[in-house]
Parts: sequence; structure tokens; C-alpha cells
Amino acid sequence: MENYPRGHVVVVTYPAQGHINPLLQFAKCLASKGLKATFATTLYTAKLIRADGVNVMPISDGFDVGGFKEAPSVETYLETFKTVGSRTLTQLILNLNNDHSSPVVNCLVFDSLLPWALDVAKNLDIFSAVLLTNSASVCSLYCHIHRGVLSFPVDQERVPLILPGLPPLGLDELPSFLACSTYHDSAYLTAIMEKFRRLEENDWVFVNSFEELENQLAEAMTGLWPVQMVGPLVPSAYVDGPIAEDRAYGGSLLKSNDDHYLKWLDTKAPNTIIFVSFGSMAQIEIKQIEEIAYGLKSSKNRFLWVVKDSEQEKLPIQFLQSIDEMGCGKIVTWCNQLEILAHKSVGCFMTHCGWNSTLEAISLGVPMVAMPQWSDQPTNAKFLENVWRVGVRAKKGENGIVTREEIERCIKEVMVGEKSDEIKINASKMRDYAKRAIGKGGSSDTIINNFVEALMKGKG
Ligand code: UDP
Repeated sequence: MENYPRGHVVVVTYPAQGHINPLLQFAKCLASKGLKATFATTLYTAKLIRADGVNVMPISDGFDVGGFKEAPSVETYLETFKTVGSRTLTQLILNLNNDHSSPVVNCLVFDSLLPWALDVAKNLDIFSAVLLTNSASVCSLYCHIHRGVLSFPVDQERVPLILPGLPPLGLDELPSFLACSTYHDSAYLTAIMEKFRRLEENDWVFVNSFEELENQLAEAMTGLWPVQMVGPLVPSAYVDGPIAEDRAYGGSLLKSNDDHYLKWLDTKAPNTIIFVSFGSMAQIEIKQIEEIAYGLKSSKNRFLWVVKDSEQEKLPIQFLQSIDEMGCGKIVTWCNQLEILAHKSVGCFMTHCGWNSTLEAISLGVPMVAMPQWSDQPTNAKFLENVWRVGVRAKKGENGIVTREEIERCIKEVMVGEKSDEIKINASKMRDYAKRAIGKGGSSDTIINNFVEALMKGKG
């Protein structure tokens, strides 16, 4: 490979945590394999990113101070990002090409929420690769809509849906964008559908998943789409990837109020702690937070719970007092989730089933209690409970809230219940598959190597 001129990829992300993480990881991976990698993100997120071997450069979404929060609506934000982002991303690439000390940019890798980046690549006459940040199974649903096999909102008479390579899917197991007519005009759905409409126009289409995890789907979709699996895109140290000391993504948008959570975990017995986190975006109803609090308490397990700053005031005061007195739990505003999932004291992850969180738990062999909120999360929950069998899904009551009794039941099921042994065995098996996929010569590693080699050669 050393004999080829080095390729230069620009990787551009949507500025949310669940997008920055996999795209930054992909950039680090490509850099570790010899490509020059520049990571482009909005001005206000670029400042927060540090990643070895990757050059971080700002573009503009048109809201340079506060980003999304400054925009009057999702529609306006995405529209403005498209216009200003296309212009500033093009300018960035032209500027990079004026720097004769580094190879010219020959490929744009873009986040699937930025479908307009394809036109930037085309106008500059460079290669394009899109990275899909949902599971391949979820992506296949959108693809079926594009192909006219499925309509949205999904016709209730067709439920449970039977589609190639997928388990039968009930209404509450579908991505919320497809299950519910409220999202019919959603700007997010429009961006998602735009990317599937133009999938074939890309030189490469990658998804953050791995063959062993979604093999039935991969087989069923052969010939129907050009998607290749390159995941799990989690820091290398956790999955025996190419960068041995890589233990964090390198771009946390939120800060923790506590630096001692790992020391606290160190004092606890193996596999006893329930780790609870609902990702970066979900806003949990106050009633639901109360049920989680008392469900955790009555499970009698110790817990570490991430409650973002913006949600802290929803915590019941009496509960806070009692955990202080009993020392049975710790609440932090943010953490390095991977370090916690990798910690030997953690025995269960109560998660909202964001795709990154799900993949991270799978890659680290941690059994899960699924409490999906919206978007692709209900489908991820279905897979983890019924396909991979690495956890259980907490069922909502009639008022849409998961009760404390249900939470306690699910924790017990995963920790000590009838299914517990099977769940733990499956979780370890999945962790081994993930390591194998990204390890030297594994399914994902081979696809990434082929991509790198093609770019170094200047693929024809
Ligand atoms: N995360 C983190 N610390 C936390 C909570 C979450 O580092 O306290 C990371 C987590 O590791 C994951 C990302 O934030 O990579 C969340 O992405 P996901 O797709 O799971 O959920 P989203 O935030 O998009 O809903």
C-alpha cells in the first residue's frame, strides 16, 4: 500500500452526538490505515473534538453560535444547513487542495442525515461514500419504502409486517417515523428518504453494523441494495481494532459533573451494577423518571444513572435523599459510556436503544433492558430481545409509561431470572463476533481495507 499516492478523505457529520461518534470513529480508522483524514463539523462542535491522527475543520450550518437550538424549526435548520453547509464544505475542500503539503481530497464520506453532500462530491468530481448510522435492518425498511414495497405510515392491516431478512414487526416495533402519521411531514423523514432515493448514486454505501449481527438481512438484501457493513465503529481498544490505545470517541458535546464514577465502580463486585442511560437526545417524561427511580431502588441492585443536566430537576427529591443515605446508586450528568460498559462491575445496561448505545453494549457483551423512546429505537429493541436475545424489553403500561414494577421485573430477568444465563451467553457470543468483524481480516476490516486501497489507488 505504501507505494500508492496517499488518498485524502473528508468525513462530514451532522452535529449530534449519535452521529459525531460513528463518523469520527470511521475517520480515525481510515487515518490509522494510511489515508489522510479531515473531519468536518459545525464551528461550535469542531472546538470540542480531539482525535489522534485526524485533522478537524469547521464548516457552517448557518447557526454558528448555538446550532440547532438557534433555529426556529427542524425544517429551517436542515434547509439552512443544506445551503450554507454545501457552500462552506465545498470551500473547505478547495482550501485543503490549495495546501500542497497534503494529498488532494479524493473522497467525501458523509453522514446519512446530510444527503446534499452527495452533490458537493459530484460538483467537485470526487468520490462519495455515505455512512448510514442506523442498523442495516432499519435502513432496509426505508429502502423498501423507496422501492414502493412499503408505504408510510405503514398500513395497520399489514402489521405484523413480514419483510425479507427481518423478524415479523408489530406496530410498536417499527421506527416511529414509519409507525405514526405524526411524522408524515417530518423534515428528518424527508432527509432520510432523500438519501435512500439516491443511494445508488454513491460510489460506496456503508452502514455501522457487522455481518455476523445482521447476516439474515444482508443475505435477503443481496442485489437489492449496495450497502456494505463496516462496524461496529466503536473506539478500537474495546474491539481489538487497529488503534490499541483508542478508548474514547474524542468528541463529547456534554460534560460530566463527576470524575469519580470509575473509582466508585472499582469498589463494586463484578456484574452487579445496573448502568442506566438514555443517550444524548431523549427527553424523558417526569412521571417516567419517577418510575425508573423507584424501579431501580426496589430492584435492590446498585446503579449508575446518567441524567443530563437538563433533566436533573425531574428527579424525585425523596429518592435523591434515600440514595444518598443508602449509598445504593450514583447519578452523573454525563460519562464516557464505553468505559462504563467495559467495566467489570457492570452487569446490565438499561438503555433507550439508540443504535450507538446498542452496538456499544453488543461490542462489550453487556446484557440490556430496553426502554425505547422514538425513531429507530423500538426496532433495535425488538432485535435485542427476539433476534440476538441479549436482553429484554420493558413493556409500557396503558398511559405509555413503563411502571416501576415492570422495570424491577426486567432487571431481575436479566440479572438472575430464568432467561439470565442464556442472555449472558448470547451477549458474550455477540461480543466475540464484533471483535472478529473489526479485527484483522474480519468482515468489516476487509471492507474498510478494500475502500482504503481503492482510494490510495485513485479507484477507477
Ligand atoms: N454517550 C456518552 N455518555 C453518556 C451517554 C451517551 O458518551 O453519558 C454516548 C454513547 O456512548 C453513544 C452516544 O452518546 O455513542 C449516543 O448515541 P445513541 O445512538 O445511542 O443515542 P442518541 O444520543 O443518538 O439518542
